[in-house]
Amino acid sequence: MRDNVPDSWRRQSDHVIPVSSHCRHCRETFIHERHACPRCGRGTMTVKPASTAGVVESWTEIFDPPEEFHRMRPYIIGLIRLDDGARLSAPIVDVESGMLVKGMRVEAVVRKVYVQGQDGLIEYGTKYRPSMKVIKESKPPSGASLAKSGKQ
Ligand SMILES: [Zn+2]
Repeated sequence: MRDNVPDSWRRQSDHVIPVSSHCRHCRETFIHERHACPRCGRGTMTVKPASTAGVVESWTEIFDPPEEFHRMRPYIIGLIRLDDGARLSAPIVDVESGMLVKGMRVEAVVRKVYVQGQDGLIEYGTKYRPSMKVIKESKPPSGASLAKSGKQ
């Protein structure tokens, strides 16, 4: 039986926009909603929208995924440390694996994750791409443009 949209959303409330849970006792932050702290066990959690940016800690490239993900292969799954301290694994997009470096800044984007069959429900979720802010900051100085060098 196919899922309908409300069932899909109910199963994971932060499927598209992730949330983080911060422990007021031990100050650790975890991805997703937590009622008790995975570290100290206390119920002193504050849940809020997760940071939308972070850094790549590690990654792997998937060449032979389950059939329902063949459309995306190969794809990269990264271990990402968000700016709020939470860590998660998620797809990294818009970059070749050879271009990734440990510590690279990434930002969240909403992308298609899964399609149920030929004409089924399209599920969306959060993926991460190299930060556009970093790319803009790494442009050459304005005096070094092609137009001023005479090559047009
Ligand atoms: Zn704790």
